Amino acid sequence: MDANGGPGSWLPVIDHGRCEAKRDCIRVCPVDVFDVRQIDEADFAALGALGKLRSRAHRRVTSYAGRAADCTGCGACVTACPETAIELVPRTL
Ligand code: SF4
Repeated sequence: MDANGGPGSWLPVIDHGRCEAKRDCIRVCPVDVFDVRQIDEADFAALGALGKLRSRAHRRVTSYAGRAADCTGCGACVTACPETAIELVPRTL
């Protein structure tokens, strides 16, 4: 995927039920969008049974796109994530 529209046009969306906090997104993102930290309670509560199981197995640590506004849509995180937990969606206002 190539940059289309530049910063602010794309939003990286993370499936916290798939993320295993392996930090590949942090390693590859050229503009430092991601943080890996404890999952928010509301996000944990929203997971299905399997997602909760996986989250607990990884100490409830997950990735967040804390600086999503800086995303250029390069797609590197989508390709790098071994759990296919990141999707790029067009940002709507
Ligand atoms: S698409 Fe590129 S710029 Fe956007 S979060 Fe992923 S690695 Fe970073």
